[in-house]
Amino acid sequence: VTALDLLLPHEDLADAWRTARPRPAGRHLDTAACSRQSHRVLEAVAHHARHEAELGGYVAEATAGDLLQQGRSVIGGLVGMAAADVAFVESAQAALAALLAAWRLPAGSRVARLPGEYAPNAAMLRAAGLEAVLLAVDGDGRADVAALERLLATDPPRFVHLTHVASHRGVVQPAAEVAALCRAHGVPLVLDAAQSLGSVDVDLGADVVYSTSRKWLAGPRGVGVLCVRPAVAAHLQPVLPAPADLPPVRGLESGEAHVAGRVGLVLAVGEHLAAGPVRVRERLAALGRAGRRVLDGAGGWRVVEPPDEPTATTTLRPPDGVDVVATRARLLTEHGIVTTAAGPERAPGEMTGPVLRVSPHVDGTVDDLEALAAAL
Ligand SMILES: *Cc1c(COP(=O)(O)O)cnc(C)c1O
Repeated sequence: VTALDLLLPHEDLADAWRTARPRPAGRHLDTAACSRQSHRVLEAVAHHARHEAELGGYVAEATAGDLLQQGRSVIGGLVGMAAADVAFVESAQAALAALLAAWRLPAGSRVARLPGEYAPNAAMLRAAGLEAVLLAVDGDGRADVAALERLLATDPPRFVHLTHVASHRGVVQPAAEVAALCRAHGVPLVLDAAQSLGSVDVDLGADVVYSTSRKWLAGPRGVGVLCVRPAVAAHLQPVLPAPADLPPVRGLESGEAHVAGRVGLVLAVGEHLAAGPVRVRERLAALGRAGRRVLDGAGGWRVVEPPDEPTATTTLRPPDGVDVVATRARLLTEHGIVTTAAGPERAPGEMTGPVLRVSPHVDGTVDDLEALAAAL
């Protein structure tokens, strides 16, 4: 490992991010599970809840209407869509559920997806009666674009579902190429951006993008977003259509909701934009590169991702006989290091065993990574 490998850009961003939020109790390397909210986001959420008590919940929601609409606009901008294409939901999973329920595709409709699909997504596609067509992938689980092109040309599925960055592996899918091919063949692309919105460019031309608040955008828990281009939205039939004065996608937005959490997400997205999405991506990618160099081989653990993959998520395979769940618990209780143990049930089509997932946000340091390596 050379000094150059460990050089992280944008230290000012790390400092600003760190001072903007409560001091962590230990070393938080678990953004892929849940990030840490800023003081301003926490205060906005509390402020809205107080407004509900003072004004009445529905009056408070109406007063937040402009802010929420700005949020739809900004979130739409991050994925190349308009405010009218954005609905707030409760989570990424709730977004996919709302999409599939409203799409009402005939049972047996074919949907192309990765073999390493996140198990809850695969289960929801199956429960909607959709038949999985597995995309060809390389040894890292990355979609084979040429094979996809042949599939789209010869036997196109009803839609392609792509998880942009997996939960169990910090590998970025070639989503821009996939989007261009899908567009050329008139096949909708549905993108799971739960691990990419806020960490990787998601403005790629997908027809549907869904994501969650609490991971790389560092918003509150219990909030997600569903963004649908008009061409797909025209085919959706929500149980209760949106009122005539609202865009059709709003029929997918849950009526009863943690409105304070939505307000918090809007603030968090504003902070992300103020930090500079490109700078955030650059620092996260550098943290991933540094982490893989520092962690590979530590205590016999081996890095799964290619070393220069542009994500901050690193997963580690244990040495023989070492239990990942017990290691994760020991890191937390003895060293104050927060990570995730991910078992093969998370992506049974791809994982052959459990991994330890390490995912710092921009405040992460080489010192954090070296402390983890020493602990392992
Ligand atoms: C976390 C995650 C989800 C689910 O997000 P929720 O907000 O918990 O529903 C979906 N897909 C991927 C890739 C994830 O990492």
